[in-house]
Amino acid sequence: MFDWLQKRRRAQILETSFPDDWETYLTANIVHFRRLNDIEKTKLRKAIQIMVAEKDWEAHGGLQMNEEIKVTIAGLASLLLLGVDDFYFENVKTVIVFPKPIRRETNSGWVIDRDTYHSGEAWQGGPVILSWQDTLKDAQTFGNGHNLVIHEFAHCLDGLDGDMAGSLQFDDRQTTLEWDRVCGEEFETLTRDVREGRETLINDYGATNKAEFFAVCSETFFEKPIQMQGQHSELFDLLVKYYQLDPRKWITSQNH
Ligand SMILES: [Zn+2]
Repeated sequence: MFDWLQKRRRAQILETSFPDDWETYLTANIVHFRRLNDIEKTKLRKAIQIMVAEKDWEAHGGLQMNEEIKVTIAGLASLLLLGVDDFYFENVKTVIVFPKPIRRETNSGWVIDRDTYHSGEAWQGGPVILSWQDTLKDAQTFGNGHNLVIHEFAHCLDGLDGDMAGSLQFDDRQTTLEWDRVCGEEFETLTRDVREGRETLINDYGATNKAEFFAVCSETFFEKPIQMQGQHSELFDLLVKYYQLDPRKWITSQNH
């Protein structure tokens, strides 16, 4: 029954044409968008319409929620969905946006670090929290390996199996086991490289734990796919299987 209602509501959402203003936000704010082919652009627009309509969008810290913010965030998150059908982050109900990174007091032992700033967070069963300043900066640059929205929504995909721990579910068990092996090996290598001060393609934040490793690898995958394929081919090939797309084609695309 719920499925049927949801399908009907979504069909109604998609009957509305994609607003011109929204197209302007995508072109101006998301570098990736200009590199997509027409089929991908159509798919992305549909995902945006559904996500904008279905999520609760909240702005805090003096920020006023508007369509540009919703469309930009939904557009970036939907890049992760271009290879799949009929999934629109149903596990994320609320997106909360702050103007800048949020200051958090973190406890480490007896010390309260009052200067810890977070540009984003994703909570299992809870909201995605984003800094609009960082969202926009990362969306408008391509190839530096940083993309806040991709990072946080990758955590949400990771959470689909019940917890955000970096373990992924593939269609077949063999690939799931292969991911566990490759992820484990690559995580160890990154941790060692970071500890010994070597420069790494995958951002050193990925050495925090396996959940961060997957989220950071997703940023590298969408931002630096050619380098990633060259240096971490097994990891790259598994992410191609997971996301069911190959972002390398956007690098050579003539659409931009
Ligand atoms: Zn993270």
